[in-house]
Amino acid sequence: MNDFYLEPTRHEFLHMPHWQKYLFYVLIYISLSIMFAQFFWRFKLWKQGKSITWKPEIVKNFITYVLAQKKVRSSRKTTGAPMHLMIFYGFLTLFIATTLLAISTYGPWNFHRGLYYLIYEMIVDIMGLVYVVGIVWAIARRNVKPPASLTHAISDNWALLLLLSLGISGFILEAARMNNNPQPFDWSGIVGFALSKCLWSISDSMYVAIWWIHAVLVYAFFITLPQMRLKHILMAVITTATKPDTHMGALKPITMEEVEQTGKIGVTDYQDYSKWHLMSLDACMECGRCTEVCPANGVGKVLNPKQIVQGIRVSMESGVTVADAVTEEALWECTTCNACVEACPVLIRHVDLIVDARRGLVAEGKLAGSAAVMLRQTGSTSNAWGASPEVREDWMKDVEVPLAREKKEFDVLFWVGCAGATDSGAMKTTKAMASLLDKAGVDYACLGREESCTGDSARRAGDEFLYQQMVAQNLETFKQYKFKKIVTPCPHCFNTLKNEYNDFYQENAYEGNHDVIHHTQYIQELISDGKLQSAKLEDKKVTYHDPCYLARVNNESDAPRKIVGDNSDFNSGGGAGKDGKLAEPENKGRKTLCCGAGGGRMWMEEPPSQRPGNKRAEELIATGAKDIAVGCPFCRIMIGDSVKQVTEDNINILDLAELVDKANE
Ligand code: SF4
Ligand code: SF4
Repeated sequence: MNDFYLEPTRHEFLHMPHWQKYLFYVLIYISLSIMFAQFFWRFKLWKQGKSITWKPEIVKNFITYVLAQKKVRSSRKTTGAPMHLMIFYGFLTLFIATTLLAISTYGPWNFHRGLYYLIYEMIVDIMGLVYVVGIVWAIARRNVKPPASLTHAISDNWALLLLLSLGISGFILEAARMNNNPQPFDWSGIVGFALSKCLWSISDSMYVAIWWIHAVLVYAFFITLPQMRLKHILMAVITTATKPDTHMGALKPITMEEVEQTGKIGVTDYQDYSKWHLMSLDACMECGRCTEVCPANGVGKVLNPKQIVQGIRVSMESGVTVADAVTEEALWECTTCNACVEACPVLIRHVDLIVDARRGLVAEGKLAGSAAVMLRQTGSTSNAWGASPEVREDWMKDVEVPLAREKKEFDVLFWVGCAGATDSGAMKTTKAMASLLDKAGVDYACLGREESCTGDSARRAGDEFLYQQMVAQNLETFKQYKFKKIVTPCPHCFNTLKNEYNDFYQENAYEGNHDVIHHTQYIQELISDGKLQSAKLEDKKVTYHDPCYLARVNNESDAPRKIVGDNSDFNSGGGAGKDGKLAEPENKGRKTLCCGAGGGRMWMEEPPSQRPGNKRAEELIATGAKDIAVGCPFCRIMIGDSVKQVTEDNINILDLAELVDKANE
């Protein structure tokens, strides 16, 4: 046995003359330079985007999304997530191990010694094996039975084979070293040690040849990294760590100053996106998770969020306009449900990309049909349905409702919304909520004819300045009254009042000292305070449809369940809560399936076969429940229409407030 080593440690460049050592350094320098030159070319493209205006929480984001892989772990996919975690943690360990090795080799002190070295070797070998198994899994997944949403190019196999060769050649190199220069502590490198027993005798020159093969693979990895999907290894780290600090449900305002400076509203060319949004396009690994969960794509529409991202990337690379790289039809088909944003492991903000492009289209007068009518109606009547302000008080005809203009000061402003004041079905929710507020003895008031549309649909359909006009009108009205809370049964109004209106408080000289909560959250508060009884449902007789803008965008799935006596914990479970009294559909909580109304889609025509609401209605009916409970007037309308299209059975649609109101008769 060779007694070259006195204690467990490793000496690099075994049997290699000095010139080979220097050649290795020169080649590593060249390959890294080639890699950085390619990234620099991409950097010049990202730099053309608008400046980033947010302050990212880099350390927190890095720990959450990179180290803890939060998004990958919460993936709906059963095979993709564990496979990716194996590759990621394996790769990360090998990366850290190589860095430590370099520090100990070139630094002033070789700390790779003794017990630490034995533990280091064992961990690296185990995680190296995890990495290799993960890569083999990825190759099999792509080539045996690939998921339909996964893009597969021949370069993907090459990339995976390169990663696999790196892992396997690393083990062969370790085994060759142990075979050529055996040490008593070799057992700690368990995989290499086992492999070394299977090798024939390795001469010094053979060992050096194997060493160089591994080094050439490392050079190839650096040189090809920026050209393949593998670049997400670096890009995803940068974009997730610097992600926007804005709420998922908050779009970025456009200012008049910006329009004066650029002469543009929204996006027509890739340079109109922010630097971060352009960079995020390069982080896309084309995994297809976004497309898999897209309700529009799921019913056969053209919209494919992965292709939107890839299309805008093509626009960035080729210089063509965004509208030339992605179809207008696809841009209009988005319901802004944020399922894609929620699913994307690298935090791409598809809804920002789409709405910004819609803003550009609206500015060019390219929105036609009933959605354009909705915008005109909103502008002329301040009601998306086009009803005059007086009609907003029609629902009050047979009920006593306190009005803000009479009370001036009150605890709760009951925000009804256009749908709740205009649509006959949604009016039942409004009346039930008013009844509950009365029964609980709440000091509340409604704005009635003074309430304007919040502008949510106009904003998401791409008409930013109509939205800002609605915001200004409403803030002007708010200034006239004193109240502590806004309570609304509409998750779209709730989201924009809570997460977007505050961007406009300052310019409208409004202080905004109030909370905004959804009616189910307020009912839950009243029940906890003993002012109301929760509904007592029979087991599995009622199902509940989580609205996207409540459950996903604002992470509220528990309050709607609790008020009907169902205590499953969905807010923290992200849709994985235990089933309770409600008959739960397949997609629930944050992973709910969109009814198809958001983003102005409520007013856009579509053939019955392509209604996301029909698919959702089928899911809800499949629970066996005859009552479908909702917590959103838009969902109520869409699911109600869809139920009539998919079944002749007598299915009842009602709001959770109606169930609670009945329990308090
Ligand atoms: S946008 Fe995100 S979810 Fe969609 S393919 Fe790219 S990485 Fe995957
Ligand atoms: S927001 Fe919803 S509808 Fe729009 S692309 Fe994403 S998943 Fe599809």
